[in-house]
Amino acid sequence: MTFTPRTHRLADLTWPEIDELRPHAPVAIVPLGATEQHGLGMAQRTDTTRAEAVADMVARRMSPQVVVAPAIPVGMSEHHMGFPGTLTLSADTLQRVVADVVTSLHRHGWRRIFVLTGHGGNNSAVDTVVSRLRAELTDTHLAWSGVTPVVSDLVKQHADSPVRGHSCEIETSQAMYVDPDLVLSERLTRGSATLDDLDPAGRLGRSHPGFHFPQAYDVLSPTGNLGNPRLATPELGALLIDTVVDRICGFLTGLIGLPDRLPAPPPARIALETS
Ligand SMILES: [Zn+2]
Repeated sequence: MTFTPRTHRLADLTWPEIDELRPHAPVAIVPLGATEQHGLGMAQRTDTTRAEAVADMVARRMSPQVVVAPAIPVGMSEHHMGFPGTLTLSADTLQRVVADVVTSLHRHGWRRIFVLTGHGGNNSAVDTVVSRLRAELTDTHLAWSGVTPVVSDLVKQHADSPVRGHSCEIETSQAMYVDPDLVLSERLTRGSATLDDLDPAGRLGRSHPGFHFPQAYDVLSPTGNLGNPRLATPELGALLIDTVVDRICGFLTGLIGLPDRLPAPPPARIALETS
């Protein structure tokens, strides 16, 4: 008989329920978001909610194999601090928070842990900490991804604006689908959507793929967003998010199917030839 947990959300369960669920749920997801400005018509919690909603959909689809940790609601948002209300952690703090949550899950027996970030500004810190934890937790499979990068092929097909990313038609469509309360449709405003909308530094960075030339968002766009969120639709959001969920379920099914990770043996001693 299949085990059916009351919920997959770790924070909503009691410890005896978690004790009972744990052998049936090999994977733990840690959603990671941000509290940062999203232009004139979208709430600051957008990235947190997108990550958490995708994690919930994955857990429901794969039930009872996946538990979801509480979302970490603040990320690295230094580049948005020019707007009122954005909160930011330093890279060091964010890495410590992620490391402590992952290590807690490991202490309770999870050996397949997936960090899902809804905010691209977290990527470099998450990649660094996951790589470090992989070396420290030698019996654990650790992986991470963003939300939108998992469907970059669909983004290319369906985005209209040459300059896009933050609070554009792609992100706003996702928000409309996962939680319509995130979006104030009548206030959505076209942001910097073409190279001509950017200042010379922004134009230089955006027209040379592969180069990293970070800019503050209050310089990139007076409204704080790129692209044109007025083109967003919940139907496009459904296509993007449902495909993200399909692909994450595919990856996690593969992760569950892998043999357990065994601690690596110590480096081999090189036998020196003595004569
Ligand atoms: Zn966002």
